[in-house]
This record gives sequence, C-alpha cells and structure tokens, in this order.
Amino acid sequence: MSQETYQVYAVKYATREGTRSSNFIGGDPHDAPMPMDYFVWLIRNAERSFVVDTGFSEDMARRRKRTFLRTPSEGLALLGVEAATVQDVVITHMHYDHVGTFLDFPAARFHLQDAEMSFATGRYMRHGRFNHGYEVDDVVGMVKLVFKDRVCFHSGSAELAPGISVHHIGGHTAGLQCVRVATARGWVVLASDTSHYYEHMETGRIFPTAFHVGEMVEGYDRLRALAQSPRHIIPGHDPLVMERYPAPSKALEGVVVRLDVAPVS
Ligand SMILES: [Zn+2]
Repeated sequence: MSQETYQVYAVKYATREGTRSSNFIGGDPHDAPMPMDYFVWLIRNAERSFVVDTGFSEDMARRRKRTFLRTPSEGLALLGVEAATVQDVVITHMHYDHVGTFLDFPAARFHLQDAEMSFATGRYMRHGRFNHGYEVDDVVGMVKLVFKDRVCFHSGSAELAPGISVHHIGGHTAGLQCVRVATARGWVVLASDTSHYYEHMETGRIFPTAFHVGEMVEGYDRLRALAQSPRHIIPGHDPLVMERYPAPSKALEGVVVRLDVAPVS
C-alpha cells in the first residue's frame, strides 16, 4: 500500500430514464425501469488533485435527451475545485459523456490510452455501431490538444502519482481505462464504463455498447484484482452509488458522495 492516500468523490451531473432491457445484451426478463446517472470523479489530497472524466455540456444533454443537472465544472466547484486551474485530468475513454467539456479545463493535461486515440480516429469509426458514443468534435478537439502537447499517452498500466494509477481494460471501447486510487480504506477502483452498473460485474452480463465482449467479461476480473475488495469498485453509471456512499456534507446530498469511506449500505 502506498504511503499517500486520497479522498475520492463522485459528482453527479446528469441523469436519464431507462429500462432494464436497454442495459444488457440479451435484454432482461424483468423489464422494469433502470435509470442511469452520469458522473465525474475527483481524487485529491493535500499534495495534488486529479479529475477523472469531464462529462458533457448542457447543449449535448439537449441533443441526446439527457436530464442535465449542472456542468461538471460547476459540480467540481462545489468541492472547491476551479476547473480552470486543474492540472491533470484522466479521460477513461472519449465517449461524449466522459470527455465532453474538456475545454473547461484549459490548464490540464489529459491522460489517455494510446488504444483509445487509435480507436476513436481509426477504421471502426466508419460504423454507426461504434461511433454513436463519440462526438467527432470531441475527438478532433483532443487531436488538436495532442499537437499542443497536452495529451499524456499511456499504454497499459501507468502510475500517474504515488497511489494513483490507470489500467487499460478495453471492452466497452478499445482504449477504456480504469483508475486505481490508494485511500484510507484500501485500494478503490473507479471502474468507469468497464462496469456501468454493479449488476454487470456481479452477474457477468454485458452493457450493449461493446467493442469486445471478451475483454468486457475479462475486465470484471481485472477490476476485482485491482481493488481491495468488490466493495471498493465504483461502477460508472449506477444510481446505487449515490445511495451506498455518504455525502461529504448536508448541503451536497444528492449531488456528491465520498468514495474513500466505507459504503453505508
Ligand atoms: Zn459512459
């Protein structure tokens, strides 16, 4: 275990309705409602802070018919973080709901897997099946940042700072990565879309947006190997995260939860 530990937060910035059948390959026999939450995450201690993903904008919420609650930078501001001064942002993958407001972070370098940039700019983007989760303007914008030396490429696993590392998983997109963080309760893993909901990793089922189904199911084992326990894995879109973890203050209830402390349920 690293000497350095961090506080970890999930900030909810949008939500949408959904049904169980829309969240699993092969559907679901009980077609009940299954809403989806959208998050960005913050990792920090006295030494440094990392933002994980940058969400999407209000305009994009309108275009994709999502319920917008606040901009990711407004959500981070509630924790005292000024987006304009953030130095490091991990982009788990370049889907619209994870990279959308990167322009709100003008001082940041963006940590990205080689495989994600290749995927988002390569042959598979010819197909609606694989490009529907991307916005071409986001991808082009990130390419422009490469030319300004503001993209920090990783291939596989990499330590970004003591106690913070990224790990290539793939599956959902070719270059999807998760983030492992040292906390006072042990290794927490921000799974992002390697497991949209707890149910995906717990039952070995698959979210329908998938590049490589084999990598997705193998990815669940990788998450478990990286985390202190299954209770230390934080799925990317599950509203249960907001129920299982405590808000950092009364004022932030329903908006932010703290992930470096034990779940309350
Ligand atoms: Zn997502």
